[in-house]
Amino acid sequence: MKIILLGAPGSGKGTQASLITEKYNLPHISTGEIFRENIKNQTPLGVKVKEVMDSGNLCPDDLTIEIVKDRLSKEDCKGGYMLDGFPRNLTQAKALDEFLAPDIVINIDVDIKKIEHRIVGRRSCSKCKGSFHTDFIGNTEICPDCGAKLVIRKDDNAQTVRERINVYQNQTSPLIDYYTAQNKLCSVNGNQEIDDVFSEIVKVLG
Ligand code: ADP
Ligand code: ZN
Repeated sequence: MKIILLGAPGSGKGTQASLITEKYNLPHISTGEIFRENIKNQTPLGVKVKEVMDSGNLCPDDLTIEIVKDRLSKEDCKGGYMLDGFPRNLTQAKALDEFLAPDIVINIDVDIKKIEHRIVGRRSCSKCKGSFHTDFIGNTEICPDCGAKLVIRKDDNAQTVRERINVYQNQTSPLIDYYTAQNKLCSVNGNQEIDDVFSEIVKVLG
């Protein structure tokens, strides 16, 4: 099963991707997570993408496509993949179609007006990579899953969020039409609670 998760920033892609990969035993490939790891470890790639990522813009296509191809060539992707955050524009989608096309594209549909609140209240675990909202956790400093320190992602601030939403609307949302034309798109309502969104996804995946 080769799955793409599509959705605006803050739509809950990462959270749902983790649930899907656990249930269906697929590798969770998050380009955002790969870039963040590289920035944290100050690798040459991390140094290259830090500025553009902090500003809320997309990392260069050639770089991103190369990273994904490389990752998809690994042994654990033989049985499929769960791509989270890739493709993010038409160039990337076409490159993926040539390399290892998806079977299904799940579009998490969320009210664009709710995104800013979701992202600005987001806290990310420094260890297990879990993602939580301050509205739903008691202690906003400690991961409710593993007890490690929660951090605020550098691009999770009101200003950068607006840029990320722009990027999504201009570059990523055309992928909805692209995959609809291929008969691969399934939309789920992302304005619900985590478990309810996941139930819809499970229904779609069958
Ligand atoms: P979110 O979905 O909440 O915006 P991600 O972790 O998916 O978070 O992405 C964070 C940032 O990483 C993006 O704003 C962008 O700078 C970079 N990034 C992630 N995936 C891609 C991609 N496929 N192409 C280019 N840049 C990407
Ligand atoms: Zn944790």
